[in-house]
Amino acid sequence: MERTELADRDADDPLAALRDGFELPSGVVYLDGNSLGALQTAVRERVARVVGDEWGRGLIRSWNDAGWVRLPARVAARLAPLVGAAADELVVTDSTSVDLFKALVAARRLRPDRRVILTDDRNFPTDRYVAEGVAALLPDTEVVAVPPEGIAARLGPDVAVLTLTHVDYRSGRMADAAELTAAAHDAGAVTVWDLSHSAGAVPVDLTGWRADLAVGCTYKYLNGGPGAPAYLFAAARHHDALRTPIQGWFGAARPFGFAGAYTPAADARRFAAGTPPVLSLAALDAALAVWEEVDPAAVFRRAQALTDTFVTLVDERLAGLGVEVVSPRDAGVRGAQVSLRHPDADAVMQALIARGVIGDVRPPDLLRFGFAPLYVRSVDVWDAVEALREVLVTRAHEDPAHRLPREVV
Ligand SMILES: *Cc1c(COP(=O)(O)O)cnc(C)c1O
Repeated sequence: MERTELADRDADDPLAALRDGFELPSGVVYLDGNSLGALQTAVRERVARVVGDEWGRGLIRSWNDAGWVRLPARVAARLAPLVGAAADELVVTDSTSVDLFKALVAARRLRPDRRVILTDDRNFPTDRYVAEGVAALLPDTEVVAVPPEGIAARLGPDVAVLTLTHVDYRSGRMADAAELTAAAHDAGAVTVWDLSHSAGAVPVDLTGWRADLAVGCTYKYLNGGPGAPAYLFAAARHHDALRTPIQGWFGAARPFGFAGAYTPAADARRFAAGTPPVLSLAALDAALAVWEEVDPAAVFRRAQALTDTFVTLVDERLAGLGVEVVSPRDAGVRGAQVSLRHPDADAVMQALIARGVIGDVRPPDLLRFGFAPLYVRSVDVWDAVEALREVLVTRAHEDPAHRLPREVV
C-alpha cells in the first residue's frame, strides 16, 4: 500500500467533507476520538450563544424561551436513531457511571428472586465498581465476573442481570449483543448493555437486540465534549415496572407541578434525577446534528475501512519492530479502534504524541488507536503508522523525555 493510494481514496470519499466541520489543529493526527471526540465549529458557536445570549441575557426566562427545558428530549430524539431506540426510551443525563448505577438497581429489581449480577472480568473498571456498589447496597445480591467466553455457560436460574460492554475498551472486540441478549432472556435474566465505545462507531440496534436497559457515553465518538452527559436506555415494554433509585423531581411526571407525592414520568425520563446540564446538553445537541446529514451505515463502513487499513499497514510496515495487533483482525467483530501490544507502550505513546500523533495507552502494554469515522482520513492512518515506525526504528521512546509520569493516560 502507498500513501498516494490512500490520498486518492480520501479524494473519492463522499463523506470526506464531514471533516471540515471539525476544528482539528494542524499538524495533529488525532486517533483518540474514542476517549474524547473532537470539537465541531457548530458546537463552539452554539456554546458561545447559549452562554452569552441565553444565559447572559435571557437568564431564567431561557428555560422556556430558549427551550432549555425541552433540551433533554431533543437530544434523546437525535440520539435515538444511532442506537436503534425510540426517543421516549432514552434519557440523556448524568454520567455513564451514575446511569449504570440507576440501570443496574432498576434491572435487579425486575428480578427480585434472583441474586446474581453477571458480568465479564474484562469489563471497564467503572462498570465493575458500580456493579459491586449495587451488590453492596441491595439485599442478597452478588456480582459474578467470568471470562467473556464463559458468559453463556454461566447464565442460569440465579442470574438476575447480565451486564456487559458491547465493544471492549482494550481490545476493541465487539460482542454479539443480539445473541447474548437472547441467551440472557432464555435464562430469565435482563440485560444492561454499556455502549460507550459503540454508538457513533459501530451499528447499534437496541430494539433489534431486544435489549432491556443500556447506558453509554457521549464524549467519545459522539463528540459531545469533555464530561458530556451520558444516556440511559430503557425498553418501552419495561417502563411501567422500572423504578429508579434516585427519585428526583426531573424524573417525576410533572416536575413543575411541585406535587407532594412522587409520580414517575411514564417513559425513560423517569431515570432523570436533577436539573439538566444545559451547557453540556446544548454542546451535545449541536454535536449530534451532523448525523442527520449522513447515512450511519456509510459512516460505519468507513470506520471499518480505516481500521482495516491500519491493521494492513501495521503488518506491512511494522513487521519485526516489536508490536503485535491485539484487536480482532475481522472488522466484523471489531469496534472503530485497534490496539497494539508493546512492552514499553507508555513511552512509545509519549514519543508518538511528541510527533503529533495522538492515541492513548491502557496499562500495562497496550497502545490504543481510535479511528473516529467522522473526521479521521485514510492518509492519517498512513501518517500514524509511519510516525510509529520512526519511533520504533530510532528507539525514540528510550529518551527520558518520553518517560514522564502523567495523571491521565
Ligand atoms: C468511557 C466509558 C465509561 C465512562 O464512564 P463515565 O462515568 O462517563 O466516566 C463507562 N464505561 C465504559 C465501558 C467506557 O468506555
